[in-house]
Amino acid sequence: MFRKLDSHRAAKRLLNRCETLAGFSALDDGILRAYLTPQHAQANAQVGEWMIAAGMTTWQDQVGNQWGRYEGCLKGAPKLIIGSHLDTVPYAGRYDGILGVLAAIELVSQLNAENRRLPFAIEVVGFCDEEGTRFGTTLIGSKALAGQWQDDWLAIEDDQGTSMYDALIAFGLDPRQCINARLNPENILGFWELHIEQGPVLEAEDLPLGVVTGIAGAKRSMIQLKGQAGHAGTTPMHLRRDSLTGAAELTLAIERIARDIGGDLVATVGQVFSKPGAVNVIAGQTILSLDVRSQSDVVRDKAVEQINDIAEAIAGRRSLELSWNHTHQAPAVLCNAKYQAVFSSAIEQAFENKVPVRRLPSGAGHDAMALAEICPMAMLFLRSPRGLSHHPDEAVIPEDVASGLSVLYQAINKLELDCSQDLVSNSLVS
Ligand SMILES: [Zn+2]
Repeated sequence: MFRKLDSHRAAKRLLNRCETLAGFSALDDGILRAYLTPQHAQANAQVGEWMIAAGMTTWQDQVGNQWGRYEGCLKGAPKLIIGSHLDTVPYAGRYDGILGVLAAIELVSQLNAENRRLPFAIEVVGFCDEEGTRFGTTLIGSKALAGQWQDDWLAIEDDQGTSMYDALIAFGLDPRQCINARLNPENILGFWELHIEQGPVLEAEDLPLGVVTGIAGAKRSMIQLKGQAGHAGTTPMHLRRDSLTGAAELTLAIERIARDIGGDLVATVGQVFSKPGAVNVIAGQTILSLDVRSQSDVVRDKAVEQINDIAEAIAGRRSLELSWNHTHQAPAVLCNAKYQAVFSSAIEQAFENKVPVRRLPSGAGHDAMALAEICPMAMLFLRSPRGLSHHPDEAVIPEDVASGLSVLYQAINKLELDCSQDLVSNSLVS
């Protein structure tokens, strides 16, 4: 059993390691660790050392993900993959992604200290590029594992004009081998990821952690309203075709529609571009960005449909021309039901039923989305103080980190029990 004292000590070490990794930065005044940079290599080397100290064998794969394997009782046993990402956005916090990799290492370290081998191997992964900071691509590390590597990514250049092809070579990797990072799905039990929530829900409910139900699918569009630019002094109000006031009305309607639909549906207008953009000219053309997300693609699409209906009505009433450009769409991905149940009972056990099990969707994308293509996946969220992330003030509560480790440990115990029972029943059948 992961005694209370041990989980606190492990949490302390984990948090110290977060500080060490924060030092591998391309910025003097903040954290930036991008794909295929010297800081990426430093982080992989350091994490590899910690993996070895925890009793794992280590390697770096064809795209630059860092791996460690803790063998099961039988060689070649199926594996459970646990991990998250080691790269960051510019001026990042210390915990986004990193926490999940280091938590998995602490978990293995504890098993190793107990001299315990499971009916399955544990492979810990530190993904190389989740954020897409350098090349604008996201989830490179996890997509490559899921067999979704695309050779046309090699031509993408960073803002210094270095192509991914050249960056891979400079890093010591062979671009022609990236496609071979794909995993064989056959012997994978699943993928688990512990991650900070990056939102305010758990904190608002005073809960240390929660079980993720799924990762929302996002739909993004640019909505254009075209009216007539004109003189701000000479055009009376009733003769105007003002695209900006139409866009303002539409923005408020989008907020109202999202609130009315409720649940996990969120809709955001984050950008407004208006032309010609002068103080004394009525706006003739306005473009709004729209980002709509839900764990249910049906709910999300229904929201976009309602927004389109109201946009048409507003445009009609104001004599504006409406056009849509759909720029991005990703389907929602559900977390595996069995593993959600494993996490839930692990939370009950770790907190002796004193903390309710909160299930919540993820509004943000994660590596687990990509892994879901090849194996069952599940995620645990840890409370994010002030809901802050992608920010230097991103934080975790040390007590919560200890709780997260206890829950992961209990979940492993539960999975071990399930696997042992499966093995027994399988041998009874055969
Ligand atoms: Zn992350």
